[in-house]
Amino acid sequence: MNDKPLSILVVGLGLIGGSFALSIKNSAFACKVSGFDLSSESVAEALEQGIIDQGVDSLESGVTQADVVMLSVPMLAMEKVLEQLSGFDLTGKVVTDVGSCKVSLVRAAERIFGRVPTNLLPGHPIAGSEKSGVAAAKEGLFKGHKVIITPLPDTEPEVISLVRKLWQACGAEVNAMDVQRHDEVLALTSHLPHLLAFSLVDTLAGNPENQDIFRYAAGGFRDFTRIAGSDPVMWHDVAVGNKDAILTALDQFSAGVENLRQAIIQQDSETMLGTFERARAARNHFASMLERRAYMTKELENGSQTYVARPGGSITGELRVPGDKSISHRSIMLGALAEGVTEVEGFLEGEDALATLQAFRDMGVNIEGPHEGKVTIHGVGMKGLKQPVGPLYLGNAGTAMRLMAGLMSAQDFDVTLTGDHSLSGRPMGRVVNPLRDMGASIETTEGGRPPLVIKGGQKLKGIDYDMPMASAQVQSCLLLAGMYAEGETATVAPGIVRDHTNRMLAGFGYPVAVEGSRVAIQGGGALTATAIDVPSDISSAAFFMVAASIAEGSDLTLKHVGINPTRTGVIDILKLMGADITLSNLQTVGGEPVADIRIKYAPLKGINIPEELVPLAIDEFPVLFVAAACAEGETLLTGAEELRVKESDRIQSMADGMAALGIDAQAKPDGMLIKGGKPFGAGTVDSHGDHRIAMAFAVASLRSEGEIRILDCANVATSFPNFVKLATRAGLNLVVSGN
Ligand code: NAP
Repeated sequence: MNDKPLSILVVGLGLIGGSFALSIKNSAFACKVSGFDLSSESVAEALEQGIIDQGVDSLESGVTQADVVMLSVPMLAMEKVLEQLSGFDLTGKVVTDVGSCKVSLVRAAERIFGRVPTNLLPGHPIAGSEKSGVAAAKEGLFKGHKVIITPLPDTEPEVISLVRKLWQACGAEVNAMDVQRHDEVLALTSHLPHLLAFSLVDTLAGNPENQDIFRYAAGGFRDFTRIAGSDPVMWHDVAVGNKDAILTALDQFSAGVENLRQAIIQQDSETMLGTFERARAARNHFASMLERRAYMTKELENGSQTYVARPGGSITGELRVPGDKSISHRSIMLGALAEGVTEVEGFLEGEDALATLQAFRDMGVNIEGPHEGKVTIHGVGMKGLKQPVGPLYLGNAGTAMRLMAGLMSAQDFDVTLTGDHSLSGRPMGRVVNPLRDMGASIETTEGGRPPLVIKGGQKLKGIDYDMPMASAQVQSCLLLAGMYAEGETATVAPGIVRDHTNRMLAGFGYPVAVEGSRVAIQGGGALTATAIDVPSDISSAAFFMVAASIAEGSDLTLKHVGINPTRTGVIDILKLMGADITLSNLQTVGGEPVADIRIKYAPLKGINIPEELVPLAIDEFPVLFVAAACAEGETLLTGAEELRVKESDRIQSMADGMAALGIDAQAKPDGMLIKGGKPFGAGTVDSHGDHRIAMAFAVASLRSEGEIRILDCANVATSFPNFVKLATRAGLNLVVSGN
């Protein structure tokens, strides 16, 4: 390859070729772009429009000068162009293409060259429009869109790297995929919808009443058939080029339509509603994936949010706070693998748990809901999951990714787990390494980060694993993999680990042996469907426990709160401070202990928080600091350095916020010293986008002498979707204002 500027030849100056030429020419990439097309008018127009720097009048002269040859001719012309290229010296050059089908291109290259040249990298931008020709070329066509490259085993790494850089310079995100898989995925997601749109419009156009039909066609028709305006030649070529995968996709679709047809004949409302509901949920999921945003983003979309919390009030009545996130995730996973139908109530309809739900739908599990916290999971049994069509997208859900890494390692199909930008930056080595010890085949990107590419069909064997950290996610991941492994899988934790997985496994009839810090499971068992009433999340309930404890005249009952002993530190700490908390209605649901918690106002006093309670209340310290600010005397927290690496540095964020309100709080490396009991006043605090800091200061307003403005609160919606509504119903004076 020559030195800069890179000489790029675009062959086929139509919509895609022209847009690529224009985008790369105007990017920061140092290059000179030449163009060749069968039509000399297209070349002249491209030159005139400034789409290319230079036109060439023969393919040979263009290729001779080029470092990179980008083929953007119609699919059926690709083979012919490759044949011509085979007559030229391609040494040191990179050849790539934009064709919509990849298997046919690779076969053509094999036929022509004997084997696919190591400098030929097939590619496909997932961007376009119904228009064609050079006049439709558009700079920015690929910005924010994906480009799939399909490297072959011996494609040169430098070739892959250069093609990636070119597309990235055009603003695209580049993903790699297997050639065959590309065609299967595109058959379903692009080719099938186009063929359906053509077919529908053609069917209606052939109707003698067509004038009337088109006259009265509503928005649905317009939306659904927009793509029937696409280039017929291109789609003919695609249908020819990707015949096998398209036929499979059409068969799948026909079976789905036939199902619906039968449901309509039999007036089977359950099937009809089930189909529509699942489709709607899947559509919403796709929409959020496509727009790279979370489910809960109505609030996030509006940009930053400020809470304005006014002083005074007391907290009374009965509340049920949202369901526990950890349990919501697990209910879907185990329900999906169980025999029979699992009914879930109180499911947290937050972004993370919904991502898990969608992942199992993508693996063929029939899941109804969620509707007001109710979810019905038709379990497929331990071996009933099906290979998803594409990667499983888990949004921001670290729990889902770590737990599913275990489950997916044991399936007999390949799967890729991906997530959003933030999840893609989190290291997964802590689960991947022990899973590999069990025999799993998992590839990660650098530093053990997602996506996780998991190869199916591996035989797992049990291991005895000394966990380097007390992590519920690691333990759960190995237990889930252990269900499929030969022999026993055991973990030993160096500290207290939240045990929701063991409990729920037991609730589904799968025994787990717990002996001190050793937790073990035997492979080869089965899960039996059950009913799960997801307990309210004690971490969400904690805000109201503190609120009722500090506001005079309060008397609040929080219903059905999970009181798993690994999570109840907040109750113990508040009681030590003198809070009036009583538990009633104790029961076990799906293996988890739950209770109603009644909190009455009581004057609090400062304490030294026992260090053994710290891991049991680690998420609750922001609001416990508020309790301490309202307590008579000093409260000292030590041994909680982990708070510095949560969603924000919670020690510093809380210390700064309390200082802004005039509270005497001194941050320590591993905790905080708070001298409480004195009045504190109005002020503005920054939550740093940390949901728990935001909610903690909202609670503080009950005792403040003036208005507290809390900045950057939109993230509250990800863990506690209806916080403001419940808080105001309970008695807080809280409003939201946009920035
Ligand atoms: P287009 O607008 O019709 O452009 C194709 C261009 O290639 C035309 O200018 C055509 O010239 C020229 N051409 C045809 N045979 C040639 C040959 N043997 N040598 C040189 N030039 C030749 O089509 P497009 O939409 O850009 O599609 C190009 C490729 O991109 C196709 O393989 C398609 O599968 C792929 N693609 C399209 C989209 C999309 O949405 N359109 C999206 C992704 C990928 P004439 O007009 O004179 O025939």
